[in-house]
Amino acid sequence: MVRLRIVDDGLADAHVLVLGTGGLNASMIPYLCGLGIGQLTLLDRALASSRQVGDLLDKHRPDVVAAQVDSADELGRWVNDACATREIPLVCTGMWHTEAIVWSVDPGLSGCLECAFRQQPDSAATRNRGSRGIGQISALLGELTAFEILRILTRFEEPAYAANSLFVDFANGGATHEQPWPRDPTCPVCGPKLAQPYR
Ligand SMILES: [Zn+2]
Repeated sequence: MVRLRIVDDGLADAHVLVLGTGGLNASMIPYLCGLGIGQLTLLDRALASSRQVGDLLDKHRPDVVAAQVDSADELGRWVNDACATREIPLVCTGMWHTEAIVWSVDPGLSGCLECAFRQQPDSAATRNRGSRGIGQISALLGELTAFEILRILTRFEEPAYAANSLFVDFANGGATHEQPWPRDPTCPVCGPKLAQPYR
């Protein structure tokens, strides 16, 4: 019955672009399939510039982008810039030593990653991360990420991690905490487009 309601909410017509199919994202993809999302585009290639990411978005025109950002800060900024300027929601996962992180950007409603860089240069969303996503951790993050994508696509509730990083500390029994970051009205990426920010 839940599935029927979700399909009625438009998931069958939704398109999610997944950047990176290994590691953490590998466990998310089956959950997206199970939700009944109509179109998934899976890309697993090295990205070299914001322009290249933008070209991918212009070609595939997704409703949401899901990215694993755990290597270079530049990649996170490229994806954020390309998504924010096109007003495409972005959901990201990554690992920071023994901590997992999930965050999202809801263009026009939340701050973006550049806001975090400008105001909280040491915030987890901006850290250079090393992936240690073993199977069980990958599965948990896949569930959390897919659920955030479901929120964005159906709007049955507000995105939980928009400009609000969720941490799961696997060195401390899986304890969780959140770290919101404020929007920056002067942000060159999203500032002029912010309307009614959550935070
Ligand atoms: Zn911003």
